[in-house]
Amino acid sequence: MGPVGLLLVVLVVLVTIPTALPQSVIQITPNKHISDSRKLGANDNLYCDSWRFSVETNDAGTWSSIPSRCVGFVQEYMSGERYASDSGVVANYSLAFGEAVKLGGDGKDAWVFDIDETLLSNLPYYEAHGFGSETFNEKYFDEWVDLAEAPAIPASLNLYKGLQRLGFKIFLLTGRSEFQRNATVKNLLYSGFNYWERLLLRGPSDKGKLATVYKSEKRLELIDQGYRIHGSSGDQWSDLLGFAVARRSFKLPNPMYYIA
Ligand SMILES: [Mg+2]
Repeated sequence: MGPVGLLLVVLVVLVTIPTALPQSVIQITPNKHISDSRKLGANDNLYCDSWRFSVETNDAGTWSSIPSRCVGFVQEYMSGERYASDSGVVANYSLAFGEAVKLGGDGKDAWVFDIDETLLSNLPYYEAHGFGSETFNEKYFDEWVDLAEAPAIPASLNLYKGLQRLGFKIFLLTGRSEFQRNATVKNLLYSGFNYWERLLLRGPSDKGKLATVYKSEKRLELIDQGYRIHGSSGDQWSDLLGFAVARRSFKLPNPMYYIA
């Protein structure tokens, strides 16, 4: 092969390499993935936003307190615009679904609401208790409940009223106990919620049950009574999962605590 022939062979090889062997042409920077994960771990804001995604989607599963590095992030999220914005978007989708439901007109079209962090906000309590970074203290929390001063989550109050206007029967299904009924009713009325069909609290036979089981059983009782549960709103997956679930479940944000 002469010099011209050799040149031709080199040219042909150079031209065909990109199509014949595409992988060999794309140069991947060594250790790119490792350096990315290090960056993720070093930036609290970035990490905590990803952590929040995982707890809201239930990818994180059961957890007992927020990571200490995320206290500032959760504080900012809850106290700033984002919590209100997220709650507002969820409420809008919920109402849009409610508006699309064809009601039976027999008074059996139901919507189930959880109470804490769904209708009422315990943010004043959690502001004083590390935004979920402290171990939950039932005694202190019960004292807060007794005050009956939890404000309404504005977007949820709008949704609540909107669903009532549409003709839904509202059922309030809470993990609070029967001994807290009076304080709960007082707080709901004080915050603008009224005319609910029924307020369901944990009775003696519900003690010790997982929230998912307790709430599923109560929903099943409603279905057995002829109610059609179109929608369900809750800040915990245990408000929404299990059996006798609503046609549509709406998960509200809550990066402060997890109830199994
Ligand atoms: Mg709740």
